[in-house]
Amino acid sequence: MNKKYDEIIPALERPQTVKLQASVEENTEKEITPLQETAEKLREERLGLIIQIGNELHKKMRLQGIVEPEFTEYFHRIEELDKEIYITIKNEERLRMNSLYLYNCTECGSKLTLHDKFCGSCGTSVLIPEKNLEELGSCTNCEEEIPHSAIFCPCCGRKTAVSQES
Ligand SMILES: [Zn+2]
Ligand SMILES: [Zn+2]
Repeated sequence: MNKKYDEIIPALERPQTVKLQASVEENTEKEITPLQETAEKLREERLGLIIQIGNELHKKMRLQGIVEPEFTEYFHRIEELDKEIYITIKNEERLRMNSLYLYNCTECGSKLTLHDKFCGSCGTSVLIPEKNLEELGSCTNCEEEIPHSAIFCPCCGRKTAVSQES
């Protein structure tokens, strides 16, 4: 607190000054907030369009094999990232499968996982329905292990899985 201020300005005048300041701040805030929100919305829409342009370009390069030398580096890095993401998700799924008890032993009723060959309790050999074990091949582009039936590689998104068969 400034003692000189208290001495110079009479006590009666002070509340008025404070009131005036408060109302000015309130008005400015009321005007600023919608403008900030509008700017934020416009920025969001703009960013969405930029991402869309990138997606379209990536799709062209991926599906039509169009080469854009300026973007080749980005394209290859995206391919690497796609592969890393694919492998990470696959490993996560494997872990989840291992921790899930999906079947019961037909002999003793013990819980079994997809990967069990024999029941851990009674030693009965386990038959897992075939449809769960899809035949795998490898992608000619990214070399990832992918289902034979895939039309597009689920890892890199290229249509190479088909050209391998024909
Ligand atoms: Zn058993
Ligand atoms: Zn692939």
